Amino acid sequence: MRTVIVSGASSGIGQATAERFARAGDHVVNLDVAPPSPGAPDGPREGGGEVHWREVDVADWDAVREEVDRVHAARGRLDVVVANAGISIRHGICELTEAEARRTLDVNLMGVLALWRHSVPHMLRRGEGVLLATASVNGSRGYPLYADYNASKAGVASLCQTFAVELSPLIRTACVAPGAVLTPMQRAEYTEAMLQEVNERIPARRHALPEEIAAMFHFLASPEAAFVSGQQFTVDGAETAGA
Ligand code: NAD
Repeated sequence: MRTVIVSGASSGIGQATAERFARAGDHVVNLDVAPPSPGAPDGPREGGGEVHWREVDVADWDAVREEVDRVHAARGRLDVVVANAGISIRHGICELTEAEARRTLDVNLMGVLALWRHSVPHMLRRGEGVLLATASVNGSRGYPLYADYNASKAGVASLCQTFAVELSPLIRTACVAPGAVLTPMQRAEYTEAMLQEVNERIPARRHALPEEIAAMFHFLASPEAAFVSGQQFTVDGAETAGA
């Protein structure tokens, strides 16, 4: 049974990803500041896997190291890490505060770096491992009102390249860059009318489902993706194809 860590798996893309891996038989540890949603409680899943929540703030470097070490000690192996936890605050550049910008970078960029960095020694000792993360199409464009968020996601794509070059061939990396995904994060920031507007500018005419991003992660973590490393994969219903 593989051991998989997914951060931010109490909601949205992370939850769908944890479920996807657990239903395929993996032991999944969910690192999240929030408890699991009532619809996806801790425990075994059909398909043989299981999901267990641990309360961890991914922006806390030492807490992440302790948790990764604990998971490895308890399970004896760490196969796949999906650094997915993220936040986004909508604000114009003139409204941006230092505290907000630092928090966005601490969670979205330092959180990925901490989780990947502390997983690496365990994976190297075993001679294999897969490091995955959730980036964003906004990491490659200047999407307005999200300057700090966009920069954090560009940083994630950069980590993906450097970790792959430095750690290949033992460890593979990849990140998924979703476009608009219908999750609690989107619902918290956009009115129904704004969500419709977004749908209209996406050639696929809809948001992605979290499960569609989870399916990409599941493929990237599989042996079928053995020659895939160091790259970002866009899943956006052709939103950025015409740009
Ligand atoms: P979501 O808000 O539904 O889920 C995010 C989860 O991360 C939550 O459970 C939250 O509690 C957790 N989290 C937040 N801060 C944390 C911290 N410091 N430590 C641990 N856990 C923390 O959001 P989502 O839409 O599922 O987003 C997941 C990832 O996908 C994020 O990195 C986000 O930037 C990225 N993303 C989302 C979209 C979208 O349209 N929803 C698009 C592109 C990228």
